[in-house]
Amino acid sequence: MALLDDLADDKNFGTRTGPRCSACATLAKLPKDDQKALTARLADDGTTSAALARVLRANGFNVSGHTLARHRKGDCRNGA
Ligand SMILES: [Zn+2]
Repeated sequence: MALLDDLADDKNFGTRTGPRCSACATLAKLPKDDQKALTARLADDGTTSAALARVLRANGFNVSGHTLARHRKGDCRNGA
């Protein structure tokens, strides 16, 4: 089977299950301004995931640096 067929076949990928990525969940519940600022930080190469997680946790959001790193790579369950 050709790569194109394998990539087109949903059976090869299954369905995303389990809890939402907490970075995605946090983004979804933030007010627009906060969302914009966090999205900018996530896209900024100079901002480490660990530092960002510290700031988020200090503000009451339970997000780990590991989760943020995964989200930034697009490997989270909601990654598009
Ligand atoms: Zn995510």
